[in-house]
Amino acid sequence: MTGGSRGIGAAISRELGRAGANVALNYRGNREAAEAVAAEAGGAAFQADVSNAEEAKRLVEEVEGQLGDIDILVNNAGITRDTLLARMSDEDWEQVLATNLGGPFHTCRALVRKMMKRRSGAIVNMTSVVGLHGNPGQANYAASKAGIIGLTKALARELGNRGVRVNAVAPGYITTELTDVLSEEMRQLILSNTPLGRLGSPEDVAGAVRFLCSEEAAFVTGEVLLVDGGLGM
Ligand code: NDP
Repeated sequence: MTGGSRGIGAAISRELGRAGANVALNYRGNREAAEAVAAEAGGAAFQADVSNAEEAKRLVEEVEGQLGDIDILVNNAGITRDTLLARMSDEDWEQVLATNLGGPFHTCRALVRKMMKRRSGAIVNMTSVVGLHGNPGQANYAASKAGIIGLTKALARELGNRGVRVNAVAPGYITTELTDVLSEEMRQLILSNTPLGRLGSPEDVAGAVRFLCSEEAAFVTGEVLLVDGGLGM
């Protein structure tokens, strides 16, 4: 579980813990928060910056060394660096791509051979409605999230005959630190375009992830499941 120290990742960690998983919760800098969530989820916290290939590889090795085989991988870690493209720096572009798309690439590459050998595994990648529809001021973020959909579908095709399922979840607007920065005007605009008439909660997303990781989803792969109150349909 990458990016489990807060927001959606923390809710997914608690949900998978409740469902009986032994949760390995990754974080980048927020150790105290990560350890608190890991205690609630009945798991353990592991520091690594998943935008760095070596750190992602070390993360997988450390988790397997301490907790055993990884059956489920949730690539949730993500960041935003919002600005209009004309003003976007190379760093804004590279950091977002390296974390949001590079992270899942690094963790999947470090793990898939092992899952293929065992002929089982479930991977869930966190994309966004923004990856499907775009959003002004988020060219870097939208590109990274659209890339995740391509990565998910390519991997689903590569790994299906080895018993490994790969899916994506596309949340709409969920109340977390990532969306705390939205203006009131933007918030009202989103609400008026959301048939269910509210922002989502991290728990709304966690339930969808748990389903995709479970045996109930044994015949589901390459799917992008929208959890967005109808915003992106
Ligand atoms: P938050 O900003 O609340 O949390 C981000 C998490 O990612 C933290 O645990 C953070 O760790 C971790 N993280 C960030 N960079 C790295 C890194 N390089 N390596 C390891 N961990 C890292 O985000 P949300 O909970 O809102 O979002 C979670 C995911 O859901 C993201 O992929 C986001 O794009 C996606 N999403 C969110 C939506 C929303 O409305 N909130 C909508 C659609 C998609 P630390 O605490 O240590 O910094």
